Amino acid sequence: MRGVKFLGNSRIEVTELDDPEPGDGEVLVKVGISAICGSEMGRYRSPEPMDGNPGHEVMGIVYDTNGSRKVKEGDRVGVSTIQGCGNCFWCLQGKPDFCKEAQGLNNTHSEYVVSKDIWLHHLADDIDDATGVLLSGDGLGVPYGASMRSGTKAGDVNCVFGVGPVGLGFVLVQTFLGAQIIAVDMNTHRLELAKGLGAWKVINPNEVDNLRDVLLDLTGGLGPDRCFECCGQQETLDMALDITKPEGIVMIIGSGKQTMDPQRLIYRKNLRVMGNWVCHFSDYVGMLNMVRNGLQVTRIITNQFPLKEANEAYRRFSSGLEGKVLLIQ
Ligand SMILES: [Zn+2]
Ligand SMILES: [Zn+2]
Repeated sequence: MRGVKFLGNSRIEVTELDDPEPGDGEVLVKVGISAICGSEMGRYRSPEPMDGNPGHEVMGIVYDTNGSRKVKEGDRVGVSTIQGCGNCFWCLQGKPDFCKEAQGLNNTHSEYVVSKDIWLHHLADDIDDATGVLLSGDGLGVPYGASMRSGTKAGDVNCVFGVGPVGLGFVLVQTFLGAQIIAVDMNTHRLELAKGLGAWKVINPNEVDNLRDVLLDLTGGLGPDRCFECCGQQETLDMALDITKPEGIVMIIGSGKQTMDPQRLIYRKNLRVMGNWVCHFSDYVGMLNMVRNGLQVTRIITNQFPLKEANEAYRRFSSGLEGKVLLIQ
């Protein structure tokens, strides 16, 4: 099959990849749309080549049921980013992300992908393909799940550090929930995207004298109710812990190496520090409801390319010029 192959050092090619073979309980899906996730950038820039690609957000059509009775050939489906055993405590709750046997999807930027039949979402007729890929993947699943677990509500003033595609998802979902969002990023283009999605204030730390003072000024000297750290950097985590209002929430979204001083930063302020890794399969229902209640999820998509132009798609995504980018078959 045709697919994207990571060659190392920010080089890719669209070439022949091995055809995936569905095993027991698995079906073959013909890819319709795959989305590029920010978490692929580490592998993209790394000198190490891959046999295929780390793509993991995808929707398509069931091509071969392989004997499964849960789906029919031709069914339009979204594929879950994380696939678990299906039988353990966590899988039975729709949270395969905590399953001991959890496996992440990969190679979704290609013609076909294999999925366990239990980790597919049937896409209803009112859900178009682009919405379907966003509802099934972690790109929107993370902002949705993290926003819900943080208890965000109308009237809150929350800060998002880093408005790449996931941070932009936070702006979209939280604005829909009625929160006022302060978006912080060093990329002016991304701040403009955040503004377009409804951010209340956007701040480039390089363009203000003192970020801390600006954030305090905007929040009546109290600090934001919640901070979502989407950069995975020490500096942004330090700022989030420092600036969040006492009894507020700091949520760690970005992946990176960070340390913190609980006594000084958390204890004295009764802070709640939470983490959020990927999203739950079961979050789909809540996200679907939000879409049906008016959340325009496709607004975080800034570009789409045919698979054969994946090179240009990655080049633009990697240079921080885009929000969510789709690859279309
Ligand atoms: Zn991802
Ligand atoms: Zn399991």
